[in-house]
Amino acid sequence: MHQPAIPHLQAQDPDVAGLVEAEARRQFEKIRLIASENYVSPAVLEATGSVLTNKYSEGYAGRRYYEGQQNVDPLETLAIERAKALFGVEHANVQPYSGSPANLAVYMAFLQPGDTFMGMALPMGGHLTHGAPVSVTGKWFNPVRYGVRADTGRVDLDEVRDLALKERPKLIWCGGTAIPRIIDFPAFAEIAREVGAVLAADVAHIAGLIAGGAHPSPVGYADAISTTTHKTLRGPRGAMIMSTEEHAKAIDKAVFPGLQGGPHDHTTAAIAVALKEAAQPSFAAYARQIVANAQALAAALVERGYDLVSGGTDNHLILIDLTSKGIGGKPAAQALDRAGIELNYNTVPFDPRKPFDPSGLRLGTSSITTRGLTETQMPQLAAWIDEAVQAASKADEGVLARVAGQVRELLAAYPMPGWAATP
Ligand SMILES: *Cc1c(COP(=O)(O)O)cnc(C)c1O
Repeated sequence: MHQPAIPHLQAQDPDVAGLVEAEARRQFEKIRLIASENYVSPAVLEATGSVLTNKYSEGYAGRRYYEGQQNVDPLETLAIERAKALFGVEHANVQPYSGSPANLAVYMAFLQPGDTFMGMALPMGGHLTHGAPVSVTGKWFNPVRYGVRADTGRVDLDEVRDLALKERPKLIWCGGTAIPRIIDFPAFAEIAREVGAVLAADVAHIAGLIAGGAHPSPVGYADAISTTTHKTLRGPRGAMIMSTEEHAKAIDKAVFPGLQGGPHDHTTAAIAVALKEAAQPSFAAYARQIVANAQALAAALVERGYDLVSGGTDNHLILIDLTSKGIGGKPAAQALDRAGIELNYNTVPFDPRKPFDPSGLRLGTSSITTRGLTETQMPQLAAWIDEAVQAASKADEGVLARVAGQVRELLAAYPMPGWAATP
């Protein structure tokens, strides 16, 4: 059952409670490989579900527009101080509702509508909010998009520099949603300096790896750092923007009153809890294990003849190009889900197929590492993925059902924070 237990919800609204329970069981029984997801701790769940959801706190600590901030002010200050200590930054804003609003605040802090900026193209691994044509960031500003090299699958820093010199952007984003390799913050910083642009690092995916020392930090290179708090960082759905003191005012003003009203105080509390967890030595071990698992899984997939974008991974994320397997990403992802292995279909760089049925699969190892899986299980996991992809081509539901059973059997031995098999 769900942990913490939800007896009031069960008594009062069995429809909702039933779906919450079913979701907890689903998360317990599936190998969850969606790269942006994780399992938060019961402590983070408790903070998220607390009475802080009742409070309104527009403004910042000591400068609120509502009374009754005796507890929220120290709480938000605690979250800020923990963020500053963990990442080694001068300033942190913990109020953005999620990663996309945080990025909008970065635009508001540094750009005017119509201004030119650079970001990684969505089909190359960038995020929607880095200037995709369908995003407000692509409609209200002037995005210049960079990508990866076709031969290496890695960010083409020569292209970034050439474009920056030609287009003179006011701001350059680095980071993205489907980048399996280390982001070269010093190289981006040098290009930004050369053209007089602000460098914004979006570390939404890798914040936990940075906190745990398993990925280099953008601190000292990027002027602004945006991140979600719920991916590798393993906190609640939320976001932060960090910066030097120089940009603190502009960023705070952009978040509130620029874009948002009251912060979500229950989320702020849960962010504070997650940041304390991420400062423990055990979290550094966790971050290293995420990467070790991803590299072991990548090696096992390569051994089975899978093509990986850039040939492997330096972080938590693997991008499979299924072209040589003769199946699209969508039918493969759907078959894998029926086999108890949950991930998402994804475009690969230079994808000849359409975004709704692209050539790739994206996998991440943060959730399975939270469950306690290690390198030793990765060959088995690759074998199941391979079986399910092959079964998808032949529409062999029997194989998918068998693998789903084997997955359930394996995971039964690995506890899930947020779920207990018995009350
Ligand atoms: C997930 C993500 C975001 C957006 O976060 P949401 O909370 O989904 O709005 C922004 N940037 C990057 C790089 C991300 O991976």
